Amino acid sequence: MPAKENLFAASARMSLAKKHPLKDPLLQEEPWCATCHSRPETRLLCCSRCHTAWYCSKDCQIADYREHKEDCLDVSKHWKFVEEEAASLRMTRFAGNDENLFEMRVGFFGEIEEMHDYIEARLGLMTTYVEAAFRVEIKSVWEKALHHALALLRLNATGPPPSPILSAAIFIPLILQRDDDTCDMIRFFINIDTEREEDMHEYFRMHSESKEGDWIYPREKNCRFLNFFDECADLTSPDQQMPFLLALLLVKCGIVATYNAISRSIKVFESTSGGQRIHEVQMIVKEMLVDESLVNIKSQRKQVDRLVCGIHRNNCVVLRTLLEPDSLTGYILSQEERGLDVSLSSGTMSLLVYCMRCMIRIPGTHDVLEEDFMKAGFYDD
Ligand SMILES: [Zn+2]
Ligand SMILES: [Zn+2]
Repeated sequence: MPAKENLFAASARMSLAKKHPLKDPLLQEEPWCATCHSRPETRLLCCSRCHTAWYCSKDCQIADYREHKEDCLDVSKHWKFVEEEAASLRMTRFAGNDENLFEMRVGFFGEIEEMHDYIEARLGLMTTYVEAAFRVEIKSVWEKALHHALALLRLNATGPPPSPILSAAIFIPLILQRDDDTCDMIRFFINIDTEREEDMHEYFRMHSESKEGDWIYPREKNCRFLNFFDECADLTSPDQQMPFLLALLLVKCGIVATYNAISRSIKVFESTSGGQRIHEVQMIVKEMLVDESLVNIKSQRKQVDRLVCGIHRNNCVVLRTLLEPDSLTGYILSQEERGLDVSLSSGTMSLLVYCMRCMIRIPGTHDVLEEDFMKAGFYDD
């Protein structure tokens, strides 16, 4: 093939990659018809009961009804619970006060017994949205799930956050390609000193001055590129929470995978253009490459190494399971055949599900992790 055609072909591939450098094969930016997956010119109809399913026509809605019914009723049932609990809280007077609890006690819901049923109901609602989001993979449904997770973190700030809420708040932004948000949150939670009065004062101020569903954690642009071993003391100490470490590892593997993919595309481009029209190439490359000094790929690779070692030292099952999920499902099935019940805690299970979902979002993440795991010799353990 003549050089020119090669260049065009490479350029077409590049601009495709440029359009979707972090293409997630699952996430749907816009809703589509739950039955036929079409996106008609005219508006899709949204299920008015649950707002998690869309249809191109009445026929498609009817065709999906049996499949959809249970999930749909689940969402509306949990909404009802939340509203009932909220109504009863509004009726409750504390020490004769007439205060609006939803404004005055933000952050302290965990400490007040009367609020616990409300928190439980809200957690149930968040969980149904998370489940719906995993099913439909539509951006706005993921955003709803995140909204409820953030609302819960905001209401209930005393004590360590319950793991399903924390996992949702950490991993859903990753699925939504908001890696900086996830990193901001991880850094915040690892570094907050709950013994320090000023820290806690500032922490509760952040809560009381926010609105429901707000992102209240301090934001830093490009936080994902920072060296987290500099940012956080004792990052991989044995008592560090696993969701933080795993989310961070997936962010870092994603950066390395993206960098590798771009470098490969550049090599193809250079070899096929034979040095001609080099400034055209350079222009595209410049647009595609983020600032090298900002990325600092050496540091990113090193952080992957250290996180892999740290996580594997703390838990020798989790990374292997992520790399070979079939071995886990195979193990569970074989145990079930023998009539044994494999009880993985629901926290561990949901952590694995989130991680596996996040590994798909950037093609190449799995390879980066696998290579590092192998290099460290952990397959021989
Ligand atoms: Zn349809
Ligand atoms: Zn519905």
